[in-house]
Amino acid sequence: MTQNSSIDFDLSYLDENYKRVTSEISEAAIKAGRAPEEVSLMAVTKTVSPVMINHMISLGAKLIGENKVQELLSKLDFLDTKDIKMHIIGHLQSNKVRKIIDTVSMIQSVDSVSLAEEISRQAVKHEKEMDILLEVNIGDEEAKTGMPIGLLKESACEIAEMPGIKIKGLMCVPPICENDDEARRYFEKTRLLYEDLKVPLKGKSELSVLSMGMSSDFVPAILEGATIVRVGSSLFGARRY
Ligand SMILES: *Cc1c(COP(=O)(O)O)cnc(C)c1O
Repeated sequence: MTQNSSIDFDLSYLDENYKRVTSEISEAAIKAGRAPEEVSLMAVTKTVSPVMINHMISLGAKLIGENKVQELLSKLDFLDTKDIKMHIIGHLQSNKVRKIIDTVSMIQSVDSVSLAEEISRQAVKHEKEMDILLEVNIGDEEAKTGMPIGLLKESACEIAEMPGIKIKGLMCVPPICENDDEARRYFEKTRLLYEDLKVPLKGKSELSVLSMGMSSDFVPAILEGATIVRVGSSLFGARRY
């Protein structure tokens, strides 16, 4: 299925959204004294139809993020996946790992040692190396997934020893914030944790990815060093569940 399929939707608003978001990302990078190419845009596609996703890919989106295994697999046959990479960004149950081990290039939402163990097991079985991010519960919220800050270093060191798995960095979803300054403090905290992991993981994992910032707060995230921003509604419009 492509944008040229029989029903002609007017998808030009996606062009405008893509142009606006990519230029805001570039501006934020420049403001932070960074090269715009250092920040990758991930299009977050939960609830979004393959027609719209393919249009976004035709505009230049290279990185697609889905929250749920089932949803990702149901869309897969309809997506133009040739030039893109897909990541899982939502809470992942261990028993679903084998279903996506050959499909995604990164699992961003690793929130426990036991999940990492299963990823390692499946990666070895499928003779591959899976890149992962550790998701940190940066606001220490009870209702949120992600590793508790206090367990991060210990868990990272344990996971770094596992075969078939490479820790690339951290991912976070901060609490809902009133303004950019408040959000920025959570991103700063995440960046400091990330810097702090580099020494204990030296020689085992080369950290290079900080996945933080969504539609409402990707600018402060970029100012604090985000290398992937995960944008859904600002690209595709408000989600209808
Ligand atoms: C939905 C989601 C996003 C994108 O959220 P928007 O506010 O729509 O940009 C990013 N990251 C994760 C983990 C998500 O679940």
